[in-house]
Amino acid sequence: MDNNCLFCRIVAGEIPATVVHETDTTLAFRDIDPKAPVHVLVIPKEHHADVVTLAQNDPAGSADLLAACAVVAETEGLLMEGFRLLFNTGAYAGQEVFHVHAHVLGGEPLGPMLA
Ligand code: 5GP
Repeated sequence: MDNNCLFCRIVAGEIPATVVHETDTTLAFRDIDPKAPVHVLVIPKEHHADVVTLAQNDPAGSADLLAACAVVAETEGLLMEGFRLLFNTGAYAGQEVFHVHAHVLGGEPLGPMLA
């Protein structure tokens, strides 16, 4: 755990979050500032800065994270209409929290990605 990391502190229970799904290795919780009717963040409990670091260092954890995203999409009712799965990675992409997180976005038409 990184004591300076917001999402590590959510995993540790030090900062409250609305958890929608949890496994031994992942946690999914609602974004505090939702950009769509459904906006869930899915993270590995272990700290990795971004999705590249996760993929390079923990292939099993990467698979766990994707599986958790799929469960969240299903339980949030997004499979029929579709949804967006997004990893902001690095400064140019606007990543603000450097603990890898997948954004699961849906519940309305989202429009073109870069509109
Ligand atoms: P990024 O820009 O790093 O991809 O996204 C970070 C996300 O974390 C943003 O969508 C932001 O709203 C969300 N966020 C920031 N602080 C908190 C918090 O304390 N709790 C929750 N649930 N989400 C947060």
